[in-house]
Amino acid sequence: MTLPFFNTRLLDGERDILLKAVHQVATDPEQRFILGRRTVELEKALREQFGAGDVVVCGSGSAALVLALRALGVGPGDEVIVPAFGSEPLAGSVVAVGARPVFADVDPQTMVLDVDDAERLITDRTRVVVPAHTFTAMADMPALVELAGRHGIAVLEDAAIAQGAALAGRHAGRWGEVGLFSFFPVKPLGMPGEGAALVTDDPEISRAVRMLRNHGQDGVHRFLHHTVGYNSRFDEVLAQFQLNRLPVLPTLVEQRMRVVDRYTQAFAGLAHRGVRAPAAGHDGRCCYVYAIQVAERDRMRAHLARRGIGSHVHYPVPLPRLSAFADLAPTGRGWPGAEHASARHLALPLWPGMTDAEVARVVDAVCGFAG
Ligand SMILES: *Cc1c(COP(=O)(O)O)cnc(C)c1O
Repeated sequence: MTLPFFNTRLLDGERDILLKAVHQVATDPEQRFILGRRTVELEKALREQFGAGDVVVCGSGSAALVLALRALGVGPGDEVIVPAFGSEPLAGSVVAVGARPVFADVDPQTMVLDVDDAERLITDRTRVVVPAHTFTAMADMPALVELAGRHGIAVLEDAAIAQGAALAGRHAGRWGEVGLFSFFPVKPLGMPGEGAALVTDDPEISRAVRMLRNHGQDGVHRFLHHTVGYNSRFDEVLAQFQLNRLPVLPTLVEQRMRVVDRYTQAFAGLAHRGVRAPAAGHDGRCCYVYAIQVAERDRMRAHLARRGIGSHVHYPVPLPRLSAFADLAPTGRGWPGAEHASARHLALPLWPGMTDAEVARVVDAVCGFAG
């Protein structure tokens, strides 16, 4: 029996939630399928959950980055600081709005933005810094907010994967001028489809992203376009799905966190054998992907595969080393933290509802390799 890396199957309860959502929307006399009252209700529910000024849902996490950068006024001639290790849209979104991504290194162990390197890269063209929470670690938000304040730049907090995470009592996504969560299926707030939520206390930002997600219209006057926007609207079936599921989300996050804790406890003693696990504890800790670092990563991966256990290398190449961004990366500079993370990280199976036996199987295999 193989143990997959991803488990994108809907949990039994979720299958019923999806079927119910389809039925609710399909039989609604209103017959409205995009940006209807369910979308409005979902935004309200998330607004209350986050205690935020506003929440705007849109087509994807990648689109949310573009909408947020545009709402922050970023365009040609501007620079945006992004981590050198992470998801492609972190830099792709900056290019999409005509600005320049400036790659800051990451901490080799936590794999999130190195605050000192970010500060060294600030110029008079820098408009925004985009920290991203990565795998099980939140970025150092207090330090980044302080740094941004000192330099008069904005913080766009990419909390795509950080549902349920908090640092010093403050929820992920609530530190910067604007934060975002992805609804991509395998993320902690994932659903059977594409979507994302933007969270902000700034009414100007929320007004701007609302217009930008619907071709620059203001929601009152149709076909009066105030600016050139995008089609990044939200689907009513998916809004209903998320609404139906909000009550069970904390349980799903807890289940993920329990797996994270068991792994961390089991791997704590392996550091001297070349296997490094994330730090223990829950403060500043996410529960998306559990990635260890292994010097002999590819051998570990093969060892797990021989035992039928799936694993994943998320970002095998630092962003500035990808062909897509090569001509934007300054020559002669290195990103040793990002290179280290790319060469060593290995993500292990993790999903809510993973059984104790499944976790034990992964633990035994990892510990067996190190021994
Ligand atoms: C997944 C992800 C995105 C993009 O979200 P999509 O909804 O897949 O477009 C952006 N940033 C980070 C850190 C992500 O993990």
